[in-house]
Amino acid sequence: MRTILTLCLIQALTAGAYAAEIALSFDDAPQPGGWSLTGTERTERFIKVLREKGVPPVVFYANPRGEQEENLSRLLKYGEAGHVIANHTNDHPDLGAVSGKEFVQSIATADAALTPIPNYKKWFRYPYLNEGQDAEQKRYFVKNYLKQNGYRSGYITIETFDWYIDDHINTETKQGNPVDKSHWIQFYIAMIVELVEFYDNLALEVLGRSPVHVILLHENDVNALSLPELIDQIRLSGHTLVSADRAYEDPIADTKWDQHRFSQRRLMAIAVESQYEGQVSSRWIDTDYIDQRLREAGLLCQENYFFCSFSSWLCEKIC
Ligand SMILES: [Zn+2]
Repeated sequence: MRTILTLCLIQALTAGAYAAEIALSFDDAPQPGGWSLTGTERTERFIKVLREKGVPPVVFYANPRGEQEENLSRLLKYGEAGHVIANHTNDHPDLGAVSGKEFVQSIATADAALTPIPNYKKWFRYPYLNEGQDAEQKRYFVKNYLKQNGYRSGYITIETFDWYIDDHINTETKQGNPVDKSHWIQFYIAMIVELVEFYDNLALEVLGRSPVHVILLHENDVNALSLPELIDQIRLSGHTLVSADRAYEDPIADTKWDQHRFSQRRLMAIAVESQYEGQVSSRWIDTDYIDQRLREAGLLCQENYFFCSFSSWLCEKIC
């Protein structure tokens, strides 16, 4: 019943949607084992599903985190399977919390580890998409480093909080609460489909056209497990999956935008410059809103409900 309702919801949300071209990008690769898969299992599953579904090469924004053998061998597998490996720093620092010098050192360390991997490209995505927006000096320092060292911007056009859903499932699993994986996945896919429509509509408003989109996802279990259905649903919504290379050939990849303080959220940068007055971010990147929808769907208990701390059974009943 829930599945049918969710599918109806997806169809309602996508009715009349514009047909967009979309490239998939997965950040923080390779992540350690999660709530369902070991790291190695996840890598194998990503590669298998992408191949079986005939998805053109995606991009994995990598954090090699030192030269740990398992990390490099998983990145090697992605590269050998034809996917692009790109730079997301060595250890995922937040530019708001470290100096510009420390930050570029992390980029350089990742570059040295990733250079031998096939299909490594000098595309760069900032951790947390934090370009040091308000710290002007630091922002220019890093942007100049990237320019001088031949990096292209690994911008996105569709932001998602996939990681937030993955975190929730992880917590529920660790707390021993019953986790209906298929229900979570249906919820997750409906969320992603709505995000695609939101950002494509934003593009139509600010550009007057649908660009080749880049969707921000993470190399985590929720994506590994939902991937076959997610791919199908994106296609059923009328969209086409294209390679990451093709996405970054779109006119919005023009390097003139790279210096902008929101350059990584490319549509936001363009919207700000064109003095667009509408919403530039979806409600699905608001964690309070996501939690409310999860509670309505019966996937989360009422927050801090007294009995939940004693019994997941009572908690489940309340849900
Ligand atoms: Zn990241």
